[in-house]
Order: sequence, then C-alpha cells, then structure tokens
Amino acid sequence: MIPFSPPRIDDKTINEVIDALKSGWITTGPKTKLFEENLAKFLNTDNVVCLNSATAGLQLILNYLGIKKGDEVIVPAYTYCASANVIIHSGAKPVMVDVNKDDFNINIQKVKQAITSKTKAIIAVDIGGMPIDYDKLDKLVSSPEIINLFSPDSKIQEKLSRIAIIADSAHSIGAIYKGKRTGNQADFTSFSFHAVKNLTTAEGGAVCFNLGSKFDTNKIKQEFKTNSLHGQTKDAFSKNQVGAWHYDIVKAGFKCNMTDLQAAIGLVELERYDQTLKKRKYIFDKYTAAFNKKEWAISPIYETSEKTSSYHLYLLRIKNTSESQRNKIIAEISKHNIAVNVHYIPLAMLSFYKNNGYNINDYPQTYKNYECEISLPVFYDLEDFQVDLVINTVIKCVEQELEIK
Ligand SMILES: *Cc1c(COP(=O)(O)O)cnc(C)c1O
Repeated sequence: MIPFSPPRIDDKTINEVIDALKSGWITTGPKTKLFEENLAKFLNTDNVVCLNSATAGLQLILNYLGIKKGDEVIVPAYTYCASANVIIHSGAKPVMVDVNKDDFNINIQKVKQAITSKTKAIIAVDIGGMPIDYDKLDKLVSSPEIINLFSPDSKIQEKLSRIAIIADSAHSIGAIYKGKRTGNQADFTSFSFHAVKNLTTAEGGAVCFNLGSKFDTNKIKQEFKTNSLHGQTKDAFSKNQVGAWHYDIVKAGFKCNMTDLQAAIGLVELERYDQTLKKRKYIFDKYTAAFNKKEWAISPIYETSEKTSSYHLYLLRIKNTSESQRNKIIAEISKHNIAVNVHYIPLAMLSFYKNNGYNINDYPQTYKNYECEISLPVFYDLEDFQVDLVINTVIKCVEQELEIK
C-alpha cells in the first residue's frame, strides 16, 4: 500500500513529545514559545503567533478586523472549505471567485470584478504550496479606484484604509515569493500544521502579521494571544507560577492556543524542514520528468522566476478528461493500492454552499481544473521504487481509460 501523505514520525519526534509529557507542563508553555521563536527565525519575521489550527488563525484575523454581517469577503471557488467556513462564522458573505488556468490560484482579474463597497477582505490561498501573485493583489487593493470604493467599519479597517489581504497559506510554509518566504507578503497569513500538511504538529497553525509601521505588531501579537485564550490577560503558564493567581478577562475571546505537546512535534519538524522540502522537490521533479513525456498530462507549475512552491500537493491534470473518466482512473489506481486524492471538490459543489445559492456553473475554470485533477502521493518517507510505481500505475490507468496505445 502506498499512502497519500502520512506524517514523518520517528524516535526523534517521539522523544520530544515524551520530554514534554515528562516535564509536567503539557499545554501552552516553554515549548510553544520556543517553536514560535524558531518559526519566526525560519520565516525571517518577528511576527508569529502559534495557535491550534489555521482555521482558528483565519477566525481570529476576521475577528480582529471586525468583519461582520453585511460584509463581503472574497475567497477562491477552488479551496478547502475552511477558507470559506470562517467567513460564514464571522457573519459575512463569502464571495467566490474563479481561479487561473495555469495554476490553481485565485484569478486576480476576477477578484477586481467581484469587489463591491461591502468588500472588507480577500482570503487568497496558495494552492498546493504555490504562492499567489501577492504584488498584483496588493496593487489592486491599493489602487485609487478600489480604495475609493472601500468603506471602513471598524477602527482597524479605518487604520488600514483599504481591503485587507489575508493569505490562507495552509499549504505554503517555506514557499518563496520574490525572495521572501510566505508570511511576509499579505497583511495577515495563516499557516496550517495539520497532520497531512508539509510541517505538522498533529493539529496546529500559526498567524503572521505584515501590517507596516502604522501598526504596533507587538501589541497585535499580544492581542491575538489573549484572544486565543478567552480574552484572559495571563496565559496558563504565567498564572500557574506561585502567587500569580490573579487575572482579568478583557473580551469574550476564543479558545485556540497551541499546546506544548503539539509544539514538541513542531520543533522536530521545523529543525529538519529544509530536508523535508528538498525531498518533496525531488519527488515533484521525478513526477514531472515522467509526465512531461506524456502528451495527455499537464504537470503543475511549482517553480518560476518569482516563486518557489513548498511542494505541498502534486496536482496532476489529464487533458480532455471528464469528471467520470477521472473518477474511473482513480478507481483503477486504487485497485493497485495507491492512495491518490482530488484537491479540491469546488465549494460550489458541496451541499452547504449549493444549498446557499452557489452554483458551479459560475466558476467554469474551477470546474475544468477539478474535473481532470488527481493529486499524487508526496511524503518524506516515499521511496524511489514507490515513486516509480506511482508513475507507472498512473500512466497505465490513464492510458487504459483514454484508450491510448
Ligand atoms: C488544511 C487547510 C486549512 C485548514 O487548516 P487547519 O489547520 O486544519 O485548520 C485551511 N485552508 C486550506 C487551503 C487547507 O488545505
């Protein structure tokens, strides 16, 4: 059996978790603090706050911006539901936008058409680990025409005085855009350390801020930490010190702090993350070398002069293939005990969003990318012979379905 993306768990990971368990401190504490610091170094920023998921990060960001009922937030039609569900929870309306043909990221020309006076933020997703064109999006929201449309409705929105750019970088930790790692481009960035992601803490996430000198980032970091712990002025670790029992609640906050058990895994993952990225690139390159020989294959773009992906998802597309043919190909591949996936079923094809009036016909490129897409296994422990087996099996199953001799 070849799994799709199991986490890399070895003695190093296990021992670090045991160390946390034996320390007597298992929730947010020294390991979370250290992981946060190491993450900041890796990303080359001072502005990181660790949380228990990327979803929680997006939620705190929307909450910080004061986004509420009556507002609109733009999101790609092609993403995981988390990017849009958080907008629903804020009370605002997700406005879906179609994606590009060449990669799977939001189409910035279409973003422009979707902006109204109600638009408060754009959640852009670095699908598969490939960064979106941040400068282009920044230029769009900073253009006089779009700034004129903007009508701020909270102190933070007034201070920002334009539509906020939020990066859902759940896939793209370690990816590079114009010489800088993701986390340094958008106003706010949310990373995921979920078990299937490139760098895991089982469940986990982190937010980064890049708000310029008008904002006091240290203060914002503290606000996010407080808001991740019920609005409590003291975290459990500080409050647990002898005599430090007193605390206050300054707002009805959320509860989404990272634990030291999670951070223990993250510390080991991060320490060897360069190695992880190298291995993932190696697998991507092997897939691409093989599929580029096939007329029917569209390999994903993961390196350009301006961008380097984090090699999260290998999104293979098969030319002139319908959804039902693609499904048959996957069924055949599965018979060979190889786990492949589809990223993603478009939001407008899921019951909740369909029932709320979204229609896949409004996002034709999203559907085109979806109907012929198969994501292939990529993980650190994937061996050469397994990569070859995936390649040969995919080729065989595709050519059989498409009747290519
Ligand atoms: C995984 C994922 C998320 C959610 O991450 P969690 O850490 O599980 O909350 C958000 N957006 C995208 C695109 C994802 O793939």
